[in-house]
Amino acid sequence: MHVSLLNEVSMLMFMKPEKIVSKGIPMHARRIHTPLGKKYSIPYGKKNQYILSVDRANLNRELLTAAEKYSNTKLYFGHKLIECNAELGTLIIKSSRSGQLPLEVTYDLIVGCDGAFSTVRKQFMRQTRFNYSHEYIPHGYMELTIPPRDGDFAMEPNYLHIWPRNTFMMIALPNMVITHGHGSVGLGWSLWG
Ligand SMILES: Cc1cc2nc3c(=O)[nH]c(=O)nc-3n(C[C@H](O)[C@H](O)[C@H](O)COP(=O)(O)OP(=O)(O)OC[C@H]3O[C@@H](n4cnc5c(N)ncnc54)[C@H](O)[C@@H]3O)c2cc1C
Repeated sequence: MHVSLLNEVSMLMFMKPEKIVSKGIPMHARRIHTPLGKKYSIPYGKKNQYILSVDRANLNRELLTAAEKYSNTKLYFGHKLIECNAELGTLIIKSSRSGQLPLEVTYDLIVGCDGAFSTVRKQFMRQTRFNYSHEYIPHGYMELTIPPRDGDFAMEPNYLHIWPRNTFMMIALPNMVITHGHGSVGLGWSLWG
């Protein structure tokens, strides 16, 4: 990523808060739901401090718009990274459209941000003396949706709701996208009982 693009990202996040922050939902505290149905709060900080529940799709859109402003930026949508050579700075990418030949592009700097099954990392692993380990935690994850109730949030919106249950827990975040629903309800439980 270009340094001025990094500045732009910082600007976007810190100097133009309305782009992201105004679309986020402040969560001032964790809202704990006990097995007996009682609720209590654990604040994230002082009275005016909070964390934000942010729409990730909007964040991605804004970051892409920020990147597009630079004439030396070229975005390849629908392309998959097939191979990379960090020493030569080359990437081989292939369009998902049929009949397209792989494309080789060269850069001064490659930043690998292609997730848990990273192709960039796989290329590093082909080098000698490159250590890598991968360990799974004994938990699973399921995402559910709580729809709005009478056009409003189904639960108090300005909290991260948590149902801690010893070896597993459920969390719920408020989400504007599902028109005031609690969009992401994460359920994490142990796969080993
Ligand atoms: C179900 C679930 C819920 C989560 N909820 C939250 C949450 O509420 N809050 C939170 O903070 N974190 C959450 N996380 C964690 C968060 O999503 C990850 O930590 C974060 O996305 C990791 O970012 P990343 O850039 O490393 O990888 P990713 O977000 O996985 O991004 C990798 C990108 O690279 C692309 N890619 C991969 N391989 C190639 C290739 N060969 N060629 C081209 N592109 C490629 C992928 O398509 C993807 O777009 C959640 C994770 C999961 C799985």
